[in-house]
Amino acid sequence: MERSLPNILVTGTPGTGKTTTSEMIAEAIGLEHVNVGDIVKSKQLHEGYLEEFDTHVLDEDKLLDELEEILKDGGKVVDFHTCEIFPERWFDLVLVLRADTSSLYDRMVKRGYNKRKIDENMECEIMQVVLETAHESYAPEIVVELPSNTVDDMESNVDRVKQWLEAWKANNSK
Ligand code: ADP
Ligand code: MN
Repeated sequence: MERSLPNILVTGTPGTGKTTTSEMIAEAIGLEHVNVGDIVKSKQLHEGYLEEFDTHVLDEDKLLDELEEILKDGGKVVDFHTCEIFPERWFDLVLVLRADTSSLYDRMVKRGYNKRKIDENMECEIMQVVLETAHESYAPEIVVELPSNTVDDMESNVDRVKQWLEAWKANNSK
């Protein structure tokens, strides 16, 4: 895919800071934040709701069609808790946010998640599920694991992406 600006995927277990970080990145470097969970809900790109897991079952085909259109020109910061459903060619950089169990736990309690969802997400983070999935789904050189425990972490993550974008532009200018 030829793009004049890159697409960046920000992924990680719920509560690791994807939305906050994506907004900061988008603002700092002039890209557009795309919150996939919000699109799924607002455009009803799901096949129903699983009460027991407090989660929506994605209509993947519809979601991918919708996102293909949004991402085709580049310049997007895509925020979603899983990364294996997307085509590899969509992204130039994949950030996997990581949080310590104590910060993650507190954030999920604050959000009012039920115990089952908290346990599930804690296990997901401890087992590094998203990180491993990202490594299985994308080229190793584009996958970057970033700590997201403090505001300082967030700021340094944003700085890092800023520098990465400068390098990307230098390498991709004609
Ligand atoms: P996600 O989109 O991954 O579920 P959010 O960005 O919504 O996570 O963050 C969940 C909560 O944790 C928010 O209240 C946010 O302010 C806080 N948070 C996220 N990342 C950090 C961080 N690196 N340092 C401090 N607080 C954070
Ligand atoms: Mn979010």
